Amino acid sequence: MNRKEFIRSSLLATAGIMTYANAQSFVQRAKHWKSGAHRMPVLFVGHGAPLYTLDDNKYTRAWRKIAEDLPTPTAAVCISAHWLTHGHHVTAMSAPRTIHDFGRMDDRLFDIEYNAPGDPSLAKEITEKMNTLHVEEDHQWGLDHGCWCVARAMYPDADIPFLQFSINYDRDGQYQFDVAKELEFLREKGVLILCSGNIVHNLRKLSWNEPDYFDWTEEADTLMSELMVKGDFQSLINYRKLGSAVDLAIPTPDHYFPLLTALGMKGKNDQISFPVEGLSYGGTSMRSVLIG
Ligand code: ZN
Repeated sequence: MNRKEFIRSSLLATAGIMTYANAQSFVQRAKHWKSGAHRMPVLFVGHGAPLYTLDDNKYTRAWRKIAEDLPTPTAAVCISAHWLTHGHHVTAMSAPRTIHDFGRMDDRLFDIEYNAPGDPSLAKEITEKMNTLHVEEDHQWGLDHGCWCVARAMYPDADIPFLQFSINYDRDGQYQFDVAKELEFLREKGVLILCSGNIVHNLRKLSWNEPDYFDWTEEADTLMSELMVKGDFQSLINYRKLGSAVDLAIPTPDHYFPLLTALGMKGKNDQISFPVEGLSYGGTSMRSVLIG
């Protein structure tokens, strides 16, 4: 067994039963959520390249399936890797614009408008409910591609109100994990918290041809998956101590921090599952994490 096979088999041994497609218990859980007996699950999505949103593919289909399995949310609050600020802001407009925040790509991407409504009253409630945070209402931002590329696959009719809550990028991993406690009340209101980033995200190592991934991509994705399954969140918070593969996977923490906030919302009765897995373009993990 070579190294890659060993890593893959060890992941399957520890986490395979938690993956989405094969988990009978997950089907039962989805029914339970639908019954309204539980608070809304929390979702972290690996959004990957914007190009994924253009055409039907395994990721867009998987995102759509997640939306079908979840209860219909009253609204969604997205914590996107692409909105990094000093302090925190929450979008408070009634009609957020679609932000095309990427460089030269397929022209069709610039024609996409995702016209989900906002929810100004929910934004106001968020600013008022914070215990330790000061959150500013925002009227400039909108929905960046970390949000709409996933949202339009999940909710193609754009009929769920969408807000964004910014990442305070002046702070460390422990802070991003702890901030979840302030937002947890949204789950009880049937609001979907959609954290959007990538567990492995190194654009300097992107490869458009081959291989699909490198050894370190898989090693980091596997290691972090195992830590999630074990519930060893402290090691994930202290990600700088996880070794060279993770150092390559997280050169900057912008796409990783949304995962820590999602994990910070895990209650003792919540389970963790991986509804989407995949490595792409060499330096990206498309893994999604569902907590509920
Ligand atoms: Zn991104």
